Amino acid sequence: MKKVLCIAAVLCSAIYVKAQHVVAASTIDKKVDALIAKMTLDEKIGQMTQLTLDEVLQTSGGAAVHPLQIDTVKLKEALLKYHVGSILNVSGGANTREVWYGLISKIQEFAAKDRLKIPVIYGIDAMHGQNYTVGATLFPQEIGMAATFNPELARREGEITAYETRASYIPWNFSPVLDLGKNALWPRIYETFGEDPYLVKTMGAAVIKGYQGDDISNKYKVASCLKHYLGYSFPLDGKDRTPAWIPDRYMREYFLPSFAEAVKSGAKSVMINSSEINGIPVHASKYLLTDILRGELKFTGIAVTDWQDIKYLHDRHHIAATQKDAVMIAINAGIDMSMVPYDYSFCQYLKELVNEGKVPMARINESVKRILKVKYELGLFEHPVGNPDDYPKFGSAEFEAVSLKAATESITLLKNTNNILPLKKDVKVLVTGPAANTMRSLDGGWSYTWQGDFSDKFAADKNTILKAIIQKIGKDNVDYQPGTTFTDAVDIDATITAAKKADVIVLCLGEPSYAENPGNINDLSLPAAQTQLANELAKTGKPIVLIMGEGRPRIITEAESKSAATIMAYLSGNEGGNALADILFGDANPSGRLPFTYPRYPNALVNYYRKNIENGNSDDAMGYNPLYEFGYGLSYTTFAYSNLHISKPTLSDGETLSISVDVKNTGSRAGKESVLLYISELYASVTPDTKRLRGFDKIELQPKESRTVTFKIAPTDISFINDLSKRVTEAGEFKIQIGNQTQSFNYLTNIAPSRTGKL
Ligand code: BGC
Repeated sequence: MKKVLCIAAVLCSAIYVKAQHVVAASTIDKKVDALIAKMTLDEKIGQMTQLTLDEVLQTSGGAAVHPLQIDTVKLKEALLKYHVGSILNVSGGANTREVWYGLISKIQEFAAKDRLKIPVIYGIDAMHGQNYTVGATLFPQEIGMAATFNPELARREGEITAYETRASYIPWNFSPVLDLGKNALWPRIYETFGEDPYLVKTMGAAVIKGYQGDDISNKYKVASCLKHYLGYSFPLDGKDRTPAWIPDRYMREYFLPSFAEAVKSGAKSVMINSSEINGIPVHASKYLLTDILRGELKFTGIAVTDWQDIKYLHDRHHIAATQKDAVMIAINAGIDMSMVPYDYSFCQYLKELVNEGKVPMARINESVKRILKVKYELGLFEHPVGNPDDYPKFGSAEFEAVSLKAATESITLLKNTNNILPLKKDVKVLVTGPAANTMRSLDGGWSYTWQGDFSDKFAADKNTILKAIIQKIGKDNVDYQPGTTFTDAVDIDATITAAKKADVIVLCLGEPSYAENPGNINDLSLPAAQTQLANELAKTGKPIVLIMGEGRPRIITEAESKSAATIMAYLSGNEGGNALADILFGDANPSGRLPFTYPRYPNALVNYYRKNIENGNSDDAMGYNPLYEFGYGLSYTTFAYSNLHISKPTLSDGETLSISVDVKNTGSRAGKESVLLYISELYASVTPDTKRLRGFDKIELQPKESRTVTFKIAPTDISFINDLSKRVTEAGEFKIQIGNQTQSFNYLTNIAPSRTGKL
């Protein structure tokens, strides 16, 4: 009886909370409607306008004055003449919390002087922590977070990022990136959760939960922004913002699911892909921006352009003969807010277009409603600026420990010949290579500055790989020689001399920091100087532990063949050096798994979920012979899989299949294991992918401990997009693979193939 009462009480309170949300939502809708009714066209267009911070700052000789100061004349023009609704970005480099407080307070003070006192919504790219505030906690980039295969850690990272972003008085985060990291050349691979649609959507939904919680008016939560809708990550030539060709079926199969899931998770805004697909710039695509995003996905939040992208419809894409046409096309396609970000021509053109009847007033009202709604939901009308005393945990040891945990769980051990790792703490180590002593190869771009080029200054109190190793085993056991820069040899002879005196060489290769276009490359190969360093070091006969600090999988086949152990560090953030030292010397057990396929050759960039035809003998001739496969990663312990069991040999409509497997730690130390569930459809009306990740679970096991891991699979979980662009699950045989275990089941359905399902 007591139990029944308890359940009833829980249900009642759940219904009450839900009802409160509905009431709050309808109250907000009423407030929005009442406000819109009072607004002039100029005021409405102002809400749709987003400026960059530089436009309202004091300058001297063309550069912003430091510490940053608002230019009140410019701010008045922005907020009182043009009624600008949003400001973004940072000027130059990261600010202290105090500077952010001064800037945002001044902005909101002036917004409150405008007739309707509508607060400004400030947006920032807090991509791996609040990377634009001095002293904030910087986490691994998304690619590293993906390698943890730990959604709970991603949620916690999101929660801390939200806290520290609000502690910087900013309520809107242009994150997460939900683009599929499919093309290894693309300079933004590290900003993604990797190449697999299921992994991207799962980690994306988790981080959104962390950012937004259940209520974004909470002073520790921010509105998220999904980037970059849609198909941004698959440029034909691998260069940023260059054309892609992506058929509709393919788009829906691989690129759309992460956005669809994020919309279901309640994401409040979306930023649009700057480039063009099949010859149509996405900012001009009513099909993607309205029919799919609003019609099919039912997204109700704000759609903001990316940087200057309405202008680019004229300047870059040449689909609009004038700037004014560009505004008309983008707004009619479904854009709500223009990241202008430098002038007011957008306001002027949009006003003319509405007055000429070329953009309907209904379109304007719809956008303004969406923008105001998020402002109300964020609580900006009541609290346009946060209270500095509310954030005692900013940059705290508690948050730093989460960053260390994330870095540790991301780092992926790819090779460990004769268990050379972990190293004993009394070995003599030569630390060398361009990534050894710089925070740039740990933090990457979007760290303190856009290009991450000042991380050694801003994160001077953090440990590079070298510093962390010295801290771990003492300076007497460590020698250091740079060996090369990222592109050129420095003093190979001195490095070889030092190598001869060492027991082990820790060779840190990789990339410096970069972001967007400046990170474009013409060749995925690791620069020759770095490979040469590996080759020369190998001649000493000393064992090489290769550590890769890089944002994308540069081709390392030759250097890697010389290593005794290989560790993929990705861009593991401010605690990455410490995490690596813990792993190298056995204070932590690695558990990361590759979130992308590591290619063996620069021209063989095939994702793991390739078609069967490429399966062949998995040899070079058939294109699929990666250096390391997606999902690969070793541990210092061993795990054995057994008893793969399915609840029934068949799955029918309305049922779920229960799949379980026993995992045992058969080694001698505790370890974490990501259990990955792959399912393959043997025959289908569209050539089936060789295999697809359909579930994963990360567990921790003590030595000799076993655990049964269970997955539930419904027919939609094994669906695909057919040739009519419909999501379907077709009857037939499916093969399950978990570790070395396999099983088969049959899906039975009465629904005719190829004519069913919905997105
Ligand atoms: C990037 C976006 C970013 C925006 C604002 C653009 O160049 O593509 O990811 O959110 O700038 O900084």
